[in-house]
Amino acid sequence: MDELIKETLSILRMAWAKHGDGLVYPCSFGGESSVLLDLIHQAELPIPVLTLDTGRLPQATYDFIDEVRAFYGLNVQVVFPDCREVEKMVREHGVNLFRQSPEMRRLCCEIRKVHPLKRVLAGRSAWITGRRREQSPDRKSIQAEEHDAVYGLTKYNPLLNWTWDQVRAYISQRKIPYNRLIDQHYVSIGCECCTRPITVGEDPRAGRWWWESEEAAAECGLHMDPLRGYVGGEGLEGEGI
Ligand code: SF4
Repeated sequence: MDELIKETLSILRMAWAKHGDGLVYPCSFGGESSVLLDLIHQAELPIPVLTLDTGRLPQATYDFIDEVRAFYGLNVQVVFPDCREVEKMVREHGVNLFRQSPEMRRLCCEIRKVHPLKRVLAGRSAWITGRRREQSPDRKSIQAEEHDAVYGLTKYNPLLNWTWDQVRAYISQRKIPYNRLIDQHYVSIGCECCTRPITVGEDPRAGRWWWESEEAAAECGLHMDPLRGYVGGEGLEGEGI
């Protein structure tokens, strides 16, 4: 664990040294977020932390955001989707359009997550993610520092070598705020309506968009080029958030 912590701190410090105010951490407030927020705090790095409020998050995630604000005295910037885009989408396709097809689900993710993320990344040069190699086959090849072909900036993955058990052990040892859904076997936490707990032996990403085929449900769109699909491997390539 000590070596992992050293590696993560080293990546965070390198990212800050290279990018300074150009660096941002769009935090998902899932399990990995506890580790990253705590290590950013320990390293005394003034990296801006923001989160995307899709309007469909679980109450436990909102509770976690407020706990983090109080625990670290951190000003978390909460970013919302464009209400006109959401209204148009819901008017045309219904409130639960994501159940209709993978295309409708991607449209919902695009409007509620990708567009706001693009807005907050505009003018930045780098961002931090909570992605880990263990999370999925597509993430096995992620690197500490990558060129993000989707957003045209540098992406840092400081937790790339952490396992889920190590994330949980760190939270428990440090007694830091965390998303209480973890206690109910949620591993990948997103919108309330698109997230479920997993059972023993299931893939960590099986709790997201479980009604879709494995391939369709692989990513949320934050780490994808909507026109070309998943951009992975080769040092290229959103925990996503
Ligand atoms: S996770 Fe579900 S509710 Fe959230 S933005 Fe994507 S499709 Fe919409």
